Amino acid sequence: MHRDPDCVFCKIVAAELQASVVYEDDSVLAFLDIGPLAEGHLLLVPREHHERLTELPVRTASAVASALPQISRALLQVTKADGFNLLMNQGRVSGQIVPHLHFHLIPRKAGDNLGYRWNVGKYPPGRETQITAAFQVALSHHKGE
Ligand code: 5GP
Ligand code: ZN
Repeated sequence: MHRDPDCVFCKIVAAELQASVVYEDDSVLAFLDIGPLAEGHLLLVPREHHERLTELPVRTASAVASALPQISRALLQVTKADGFNLLMNQGRVSGQIVPHLHFHLIPRKAGDNLGYRWNVGKYPPGRETQITAAFQVALSHHKGE
C-alpha cells in the first residue's frame, strides 16, 4: 500500500497519530475533523496515499464511493443535521492543505450560518458549445481509465 512517511493522514491510517475514527474498512477510513465546521464534521480518506482525485485508481474511487451512503446516514443520525455538504478540495488554489485526498462531510442545520453560495457566472454566446465539445474530446480519450 502506497504511503507517504510525512503525511498526517497516512499516520492516522497507520494509527501512529490519534484520531477519532468513526468508520474503517479495508480501503477507507472516516474520522472527525480536528477543526470542525460543525459538530460531527467528518473526513473520509482512502487508506492509500494519493494527493489528488485525478490520480485515484478506479478501485479506490469505488471504495470511497461505496462507503459514502452509510457514512452519510450515520452523520445525519448522530448530528441530527437537516443535510450536509460533501466537499473535496484539489490543489492549493482550491484550499487543499493536507496533500492526502479527503472528502469533507459537513453537517448542516437550518440557521447554522455556515453559508455556501459562490458567485455564479454566465456563458457568453457560443462558449457553452465549445466547452462541451472540449469535454467530449477529452473524455473520449479517457474511457475506462
Ligand atoms: P483541506 O483544506 O486540505 O481540504 O482540509 C484539511 C482538513 O484536515 C482541515 O479541515 C483540518 O482541520 C483537518 N486536519 C488537519 N490535520 C488534522 C489532524 O491531524 N487530524 C484531524 N482529525 N484532522 C486534521
Ligand atoms: Zn497520506
